Amino acid sequence: MAVQNLDLNDGNTIPQLGFGVFKVDPAETERIVTDALQAGYRHIDTAAIYGNEEGVGRAIAASGIDRSELFITTKLWNDRRGRTETRRAIDESLQKLGLDYVDLFLIHWPAPSGDPIRETWETFADLRNEGLTRSIGVSNFDERFLPSILETGIIPVVNQIELHPQFQQRATQELCAEHNIKIEAWGPLGQGKVDFTSGPVGAVAERHGVTWAQAIIAWHLAQGRIVFPKSNSAERMAENFAAHEVTLTAEDLADIDALDKGTEGRVSADPATVD
Ligand code: NAD
Repeated sequence: MAVQNLDLNDGNTIPQLGFGVFKVDPAETERIVTDALQAGYRHIDTAAIYGNEEGVGRAIAASGIDRSELFITTKLWNDRRGRTETRRAIDESLQKLGLDYVDLFLIHWPAPSGDPIRETWETFADLRNEGLTRSIGVSNFDERFLPSILETGIIPVVNQIELHPQFQQRATQELCAEHNIKIEAWGPLGQGKVDFTSGPVGAVAERHGVTWAQAIIAWHLAQGRIVFPKSNSAERMAENFAAHEVTLTAEDLADIDALDKGTEGRVSADPATVD
């Protein structure tokens, strides 16, 4: 069974299960991404701020995998706003990655006290039209911030937000669904900060003879979200990848849905406070 490709609202497609490299040491990135590609991942999620785009690029170049089979995302950091800086930033990222284009370019955070977002987002549309990125999207634009993007009439293909069983961001999920914007769930496993081994997740895992991490990844995939769990270990990469073959029942999904704690369940930063 292959990882599903989801249709984006601009006509492109995206592999629903990928590999993320947040906090992957730049010195180890080439080795870790090489392992991920060998495990079968074809979608890699990085960002300028992770400092490891060069390592991702080296792993891609060494892999021999045809560029058209890969889906590469990077993100604009918060201090690069406005037309000129946005253009410089994507050029720098492409150079570090050793690529002519990325598949997806995201505004990393709303960074609300910074420059107005409109000019940056309109520049994203120009970069897409010029072929430097195939698709454009946003990250961490919850229901408080997404309207400022929608007002431009340029609709992002995805919104990448923190989302796991105890923090499900239902209002943002609904707003995105209304506009045919796919959700990318970052921290899909709760960043290893939440004990999901027991309780409903543990019970679902036991019913299916899978691990808690596989149960959660299968829950995301069944509900149409894109995920790219991170792990430095080849064993866990393979475990997480195999989760696309796990099919949960409606009851399993409902049991995991019931773990939502609203904003109390957040394990990382509130976008209103990140500048
Ligand atoms: P995650 O939920 O993927 O958790 C990663 C941690 O979970 C690992 O460090 C590891 O300790 C543990 N883990 C992974 N697989 C496991 C397994 N099978 N069994 C047990 N433990 C396991 O968190 P993340 O890395 O923060 O999120 C995934 C990706 O999302 C990132 O790598 C990055 O690409 C993206 N991300 C984006 C933003 C953003 O602001 N846009 C923020 C954070 C992460």
